[in-house]
Amino acid sequence: MYKITDWLEKHRVSAKTIQDIIVLSRAGFPAVTSYSATRSSATENLAVEISCFEQSYHKIVVPALEHAFKNQEGISTICADIQFHRSSRASQTRPCTIDNGKNTPPTIVMDWEGTPGNLICLAHETAHALQIILSNHALMPPIARETCAFLGELFLIDYARHRDANLYEQLRQVWDWENETYLATYRNELTLALNDQQTPYHYNLNYPIARLAAMELFRSEGSNWLNKLFSSGANAMKFLPLKAMAGKTMPGGQCGAPVDIYRSVGTIVLLHINNEDYYMNDNIGSYQDRLNQLVKNSFEHHHHGPIQ
Ligand SMILES: [Zn+2]
Repeated sequence: MYKITDWLEKHRVSAKTIQDIIVLSRAGFPAVTSYSATRSSATENLAVEISCFEQSYHKIVVPALEHAFKNQEGISTICADIQFHRSSRASQTRPCTIDNGKNTPPTIVMDWEGTPGNLICLAHETAHALQIILSNHALMPPIARETCAFLGELFLIDYARHRDANLYEQLRQVWDWENETYLATYRNELTLALNDQQTPYHYNLNYPIARLAAMELFRSEGSNWLNKLFSSGANAMKFLPLKAMAGKTMPGGQCGAPVDIYRSVGTIVLLHINNEDYYMNDNIGSYQDRLNQLVKNSFEHHHHGPIQ
């Protein structure tokens, strides 16, 4: 049976690193709700009917990914080759992307009803397909694979933010709503699993760290890392900033208060994607106080057992 210890080993990451990231994320690092304070500045809209799958894919999802990859040659060609299999809702197949092997494009299996949630899902799965092809079909460890897919979602939302205020608002709501599952629910499961590392592995345990890593990467400078990550296959973990994310914990600290608080605050202010925008007007001292309180509260409310 595949256990948490195997999962950690496969990702070459320590339980401590994952636990530190979890503690910090409960305290709001990286800023989880992400978009709530960010209004769209778009004055026009994309005039795309999202009930239409073809329009959604070719006029929103593919351009969003191309844009993120700085119009790098080949991205649109790769996307044009991806195959689709539309599952019926009744089949209850979880959306997935199937690697059909070298020289054959991957197949995305998903239901389509033209909802904003479907659009997010399409961006997620397309990013998986892209990562498979750019990695030349070398299998990525699951946390890295899902990080790529969540980045696809963020690229879509950001693309809409600058081009279609209405669509952006709908996508942002899906993102926030899905944080409840991908972060809150699965993060609690992951916390419990790390406390007993003989717990059987479940794929859902990959999502919280992947979602946090995607948010951290999304707000990082430049874009050189993007192609490297998507192309990295089995080596993908070295492109995720997990150590840096966990390193915001005070050495030996009880509660994981960020040590580089100045940089964190700077990042939040710079990117304007934290919903708790009152932080921006605060001096560092009171911010630190509130953060300590947040960390304490998050323990009281969510803590299920001893975290090393
Ligand atoms: Zn996925």
